[in-house]
Amino acid sequence: MSESGYEEADVVVIGSGMGGLAAARMPAQFGGKKVLVLEQHYMLGGMTHEFSREERFKFGTGLHYMSGNAGPFLDFMTDGRVQLNPLPDDYDVLHFPDFDFSVRASREKYQARCRSAATGPGIRMGHAHSGPSG
Ligand SMILES: Cc1cc2nc3c(=O)[nH]c(=O)nc-3n(C[C@H](O)[C@H](O)[C@H](O)COP(=O)(O)OP(=O)(O)OC[C@H]3O[C@@H](n4cnc5c(N)ncnc54)[C@H](O)[C@@H]3O)c2cc1C
Repeated sequence: MSESGYEEADVVVIGSGMGGLAAARMPAQFGGKKVLVLEQHYMLGGMTHEFSREERFKFGTGLHYMSGNAGPFLDFMTDGRVQLNPLPDDYDVLHFPDFDFSVRASREKYQARCRSAATGPGIRMGHAHSGPSG
C-alpha cells in the first residue's frame, strides 16, 4: 500500500460538485468500489457553496432552486437530511432586452404563462411585438 493509498482506488472522480459526488457515490455504495474524489478547491461541493461579503450579504454560487422531480435523488444523496421547500409562485424573473418573464412554480401555470407570452402582449412586455414568437 502506498503512503497515500491513492493507488488502491478502483474509481477516480475529478471534482466534488453535485455531479462528481453523485458519480462517486454510486460505485461506492452499489458496486463496493473504492472511490477517490480529487478536488482542487479547499472545500468540497463545487457550485453548491455560498459566500458572504461584509458578513451581511450572502451569494449562492450556483444551485438555488430545483424543478422537476429532484426530491427522491436529493433524498438519496443526503440520506434525507436536506429538506426542500416548495417554490412560491413567480419565484424568478428572466430579464430579456424587451420584456421580463416571471417564472411560475407549477407546470400548468408555467405553461399558461409561456402561451400567453408567445401569443399575447405577454407578461410585463416592454414592446407590443416582443416575446418568444416575436
Ligand atoms: C449562478 C448559477 C446559478 C445556478 N442556478 C441553478 C439553479 O437554480 N438550479 C439548478 O438546477 N442549477 C443551477 N445552476 C447550475 C448548477 O449549479 C450546476 O449545473 C451544477 O452545480 C454543476 O455541478 P457539477 O458537479 O457538474 O459541477 P461543479 O459544481 O462546478 O463542480 C465541479 C468541481 O470540480 C472541481 N474541479 C474542476 N476541475 C478540477 C480539476 N482539474 N481537479 C480537481 N478538481 C477540479 C471544481 O473545483 C468544482 O468543485 C446554476 C449555476 C450557476 C453558475
